[in-house]
Amino acid sequence: LTLMGDLRKAIDEDLLELYFQPQICCKENKVTGIEALLRWNHIQHGFIPPDEFIPIAEKTGVINLVTEWVLDKALEKISELSQQGYNIAIAVNISAVNLREKQFPTLVLAALTKYRVSPHLLVLEVTETAMMEDPENAMLILTTLNHLGVRLSIDDFGTGHSSLAYIKKLPVHEIKIDRSFVMDMDDDGDDSIIVKTTVNMCHDLGYQVVAEGVETSGSSDSLRAMGCDFLQGYYLARPLPFSDLVSWLDESPWGENTKTGLTKMQ
Ligand code: C2E
Ligand code: CA
Ligand code: CA
Repeated sequence: LTLMGDLRKAIDEDLLELYFQPQICCKENKVTGIEALLRWNHIQHGFIPPDEFIPIAEKTGVINLVTEWVLDKALEKISELSQQGYNIAIAVNISAVNLREKQFPTLVLAALTKYRVSPHLLVLEVTETAMMEDPENAMLILTTLNHLGVRLSIDDFGTGHSSLAYIKKLPVHEIKIDRSFVMDMDDDGDDSIIVKTTVNMCHDLGYQVVAEGVETSGSSDSLRAMGCDFLQGYYLARPLPFSDLVSWLDESPWGENTKTGLTKMQ
């Protein structure tokens, strides 16, 4: 409870930070997306990983404030990038709790409007498990978000209690293969088969596929050969603070290919 009090305070005082991890489009060899990842450096306890504080925030309802803060910051930064000539989508992680809030789509729309970001540049990442907690409400909220033009991605695919029959009914655009399969692809033949089969199945069902946890040139090559659409992982870039992300984009060939404007705004 004390930690949650501190988290509320950190949100109020703007002490949380967002890191950004690029996603590369294999076909175009450019950055087409960035995932926003939350960082909390606690004044007394130091760095607390999101895996530790997000589940508590979900149980106590503080997650609604967290998601609101992340959406606001993520869209602010994506609009800054677009002013610099980078036309990139931003992926934000949302939780099961958000999918129970009828007001959630209104909140998303307000943030998009505030920063004048086109809805198709926002991707919401949801886990299968989150959706299965309350499938009917999730369906309702995700359908409304889809009507707004927001894109939907299924996170950690392959680890949850998935029901493809259910996912198929949702307005899903993209599937993210869980990093546990991708990280071991080089050494584990079974994982490689799982990834390859998932890519094919998702394509046949009309989804685009992101592989996360790409840590080696070997897995990057294999994923490209399998026809995977997007790559994300330490091999390409670690999650970076915003200023480092901008330098990375300015310096990397993938960033260069991403620039849409002729000149960069000063
Ligand atoms: P996730 O959504 O699956 O995010 C991907 C995680 O994989 C991130 O961990 C990222 O740093 C890590 N990662 C990226 N590339 C690699 C790689 O090549 N190898 C390995 N080993 N790891 C890689 P992170 O930032 O610690 O986040 C952990 C989880 O916390 C996220 O998993 C997500 O579920 C949750 N999370 C993070 N930020 C938010 C947020 O803003 N809202 C919500 N609701 N959850 C968040
Ligand atoms: Ca994610
Ligand atoms: Ca994931």
